[in-house]
Parts: sequence; structure tokens; C-alpha cells
Amino acid sequence: MTNKPLKTQIVVVGGGAAGLALVRKLGAKYGREKHDIILIEPNRTHVWKPLLHEVAAGALDANADEIGYGGHAARWNYRFFPAALEKIDRERQMVRTAQVFDDDGELILDNHEIRYDYLVLAMGGVSNDFGTPGVREHAMFLDSRAEADRFRNKLLGQCLRVDALHDLEGKDANLPICIIGGGATGVELSAELVNSVRALRSYGLERFDQDAMTLTLLEAGPRLVPALSEEISENVRDELVDLGVDVRLEAMVSEVTENSVKLKDGTELPAAMVLWAAGVRGHHGLSEMTDLELSRSGTIVVEPTLQTKNDPRIFAMGDCCFCMLPGAERPVPPRAQTAHQMAEHMVHQFDRLEKGQRLEPFVYDDKGSLISLSRFETLGSLMGNLVGGKMAIRGRFARMAYMSLYRMHLLSVLGWWRGGLTIVGQFFGKVAKPRLKLH
Ligand SMILES: Cc1cc2nc3c(=O)[nH]c(=O)nc-3n(C[C@H](O)[C@H](O)[C@H](O)COP(=O)(O)OP(=O)(O)OC[C@H]3O[C@@H](n4cnc5c(N)ncnc54)[C@H](O)[C@@H]3O)c2cc1C
Repeated sequence: MTNKPLKTQIVVVGGGAAGLALVRKLGAKYGREKHDIILIEPNRTHVWKPLLHEVAAGALDANADEIGYGGHAARWNYRFFPAALEKIDRERQMVRTAQVFDDDGELILDNHEIRYDYLVLAMGGVSNDFGTPGVREHAMFLDSRAEADRFRNKLLGQCLRVDALHDLEGKDANLPICIIGGGATGVELSAELVNSVRALRSYGLERFDQDAMTLTLLEAGPRLVPALSEEISENVRDELVDLGVDVRLEAMVSEVTENSVKLKDGTELPAAMVLWAAGVRGHHGLSEMTDLELSRSGTIVVEPTLQTKNDPRIFAMGDCCFCMLPGAERPVPPRAQTAHQMAEHMVHQFDRLEKGQRLEPFVYDDKGSLISLSRFETLGSLMGNLVGGKMAIRGRFARMAYMSLYRMHLLSVLGWWRGGLTIVGQFFGKVAKPRLKLH
């Protein structure tokens, strides 16, 4: 479609990998005078989601890596509205935000209506429990910083309990943990937990060692990290088995109870903690929030231009969108590099809108996938002309490539100067701080 030049209010919902990069770039490009750019986000600070398994295992102090939205907005010429989106009124071009309460349950902000000329939805996704009984009640997820913190606190509590029980029950006291889903999140968290637990002795839990934890990784399919080649899947599995993880493939979970995980074949595994990481879906309640077309997994269906099917003024990007590109067999995958590329694409779309030009379809450039098994190993594949197609990598070079994804995110949301300083600061911070964050 061709559009009139715009003097506009651009509302972006969700300040994650995609949304924060977008508002930063739009703010830097247009400034406050030209357009009014508003970010709606319920959290006060941003933590890059692919770090959450490290936060959950205590390997990373998220306080040191978070970015405050308020200061970021002041620096990059956009407005930050600290609330969650509750409803989209397409007819009036208005969004309504939810009420905000403080820790004591007192109302801080009432419902609020914000007008938009263009709306960009970047609310991410949540773990898909596929309706499995007991998951919502008894399992934990890694969908947000709060959930990662909750997992870490519970982990520490359970480790302390087992450590104390060792005095009474000897070596029999054990902490059984089940991780469900052998994709990147499940695999990376497993390795990170082994790393943390091995270090606990030097953090005062004198009787706790790796034998005190039974870590089981359950995957319904025939191999781990199915997005990667069979060879890499095998390597990942071998590494985890060497680390003492009980990897079970073709293990379909039928129910999660208060203290166990039941499999379809009748096996029941004891579990003091269960982490569910089996796939991504759209936010629950999205269908009440909007009448936009949703996919079977509850994500917002978009055209290749990232405009929603029903409304050309509303765009969706990142994990919350379902984007099937022409000629592709599968939708664009929910990954950090997708979020980054879509944000970049949206900056150009606004440029085209402003010039009254036709919008262009999004092109996904798969740069490969890397899996970090904590400090033990990094492996995966890179794609592109530079490496002559597809190349399997592991070790130090893979680690550097893996780290570069986060560094690119920092540069993208903080700019070259501040992003560069932050990267240097984090490097020295790592040397100065303890290895684990266990509070
Ligand atoms: C543990 C873990 C490890 C991962 N590792 C990798 C990896 O190694 N490589 C990779 O490519 N990808 C990885 N991913 C996937 C990657 O994190 C996501 O694909 C990416 O973050 C998606 O970006 P997004 O902006 O769409 O969503 P998010 O980054 O999830 O951001 C969504 C934002 O929307 C906000 N929000 C939610 N609901 C509302 C609402 N109602 N109103 C307003 N705001 C709302 C949220 O608070 C959040 O800030 C990992 C994910 C996890 C959980």
C-alpha cells in the first residue's frame, strides 16, 4: 500500500529484544519533535531474554545487566509508559493499559487510554504447555525476569534443604529436578545448573555436590535441539550425558503433579522442581485483548510486511507474530536474531511510510544457531557467505560468536558509544564479582 506522509504517534507495545531496539532507533532518527514515540511495557527494567537461564541458575546477576526504561527513554527521545497493554480498540485507534499496583496492592496507575496512528506489537511469547495437565499449577517457566528470579530462589532453598538433610539421611538426600523441553532453553539451563551446583560447596553448602542433584532433561521428540543438524544434536546430548544429566528422548510428558512428572509410557519421575520449556506460543488472553487474526499457537498473523492481516496500521514483530514468508515451508522462527532483524526492518518501514512509499516484505536472514553449555562447551552452526554456506563450529570461536549476539543487542539498544562502554564494564565486572549470584 502507499501511504500519506506521516506526522504521527507511534505506539510500541513491549520493550524486549525487538521493541526496545525499535524505539531506540526511531527515537534516535526522528527525535521528539517529529513523531511521538511511546513504549508501553509493564516492567521498569529490561533484561535480554536469552540470559534468563543464566539468571535462573545464579550464573548471572541480572541487576548488573538490566537497562532502566525511564533513563533509556530520556536518552533516546521516546516516552515510556509503565503498564501492560490490556485492550486494542481498532475503530478508535486507541489502546487501553491495565491498572498498575504497588507491592502492597495499592493502585498506582489506573487504566489509561493512548491514541495511536501506528501500533507495533512486540509483546514476545510465553511457554507453550500444550494443555498438559498440572503444568500451569506445578511447573515453573522462564518467560520473564521475575520467573527466572523465582526459579533461582527456589533452587537455592532446595539446595539448602538437601544440604541440611545430608546430616540426617546421609548421602540419600537428593534434589530431583526435571526440565521439560530439549530445545535451546532446556539444554542451556541443564548445563548451567550443573555448573552452579558444582560450585555450591565453595559457597557454604559443604555437603552438597552434584550427586545430591538428579537432573533429568525430557524431550518428546527423537533428538535434542531439533533446529540444529543431527550431528550437533548428538554432540549436545553427549556433552550433557558427560555432565551427568539424565537425558531422555521420546519422553512425552502426560502430567505434572506437585512432586512428580508423569510420562505417557507410565513412568513417574520424582521432581522437587519442574521447569517447562517446551515451545513458544502467544500470550494467554491475546484473543480478549484484540480481534486481530491469531495463529493456532495464539500468535498474531502478519503479512510479509509485518502488518497484521486485519489492520494495516497495526504491525507485529518478534515472538508474538506468526510470519509466513512467500515460498517458506515454516514460519519465521521465534529467536533473538529474528527480533533484531524485524526491529531493523520496521525502522525502514516507517521511513517508507514517511516518504509515502510502498512497504517492503521482511526478509529473514538465518545466521545460524549456537548452543552454550555454560563454561563447558559452545557449539552450533553459522550460516552466510563469509563461512561459505553453513559451517559447524564449537569451542572458543563458537563462544565468541555466541557472545557477539548479546553484544550486538547491547549496541543496538544503547548505541555504539554507550553499548561499547557497557560491554567493557561487564567484562571487568565479571572479573571482580563472585561467580554465582545466590541471593
Ligand atoms: C532462556 C531463553 C534462552 C534463549 N536463548 C536464545 C538464544 O540463544 N538465541 C536466540 O536467538 N533466541 C533465544 N531465545 C529466544 C529469544 O529470547 C526471543 O526470541 C526474543 O527475546 C524475542 O524477542 P521479543 O522482543 O519478541 O520478545 P521479548 O524479548 O520476550 O520481549 C517482550 C516484551 O514484551 C513485554 N510484554 C509482555 N506482555 C505485555 C503487555 N501485555 N503489554 C506490554 N508489554 C508486554 C514483556 O515484558 C517483554 O519486555 C531464548 C529465550 C529464552 C527464554
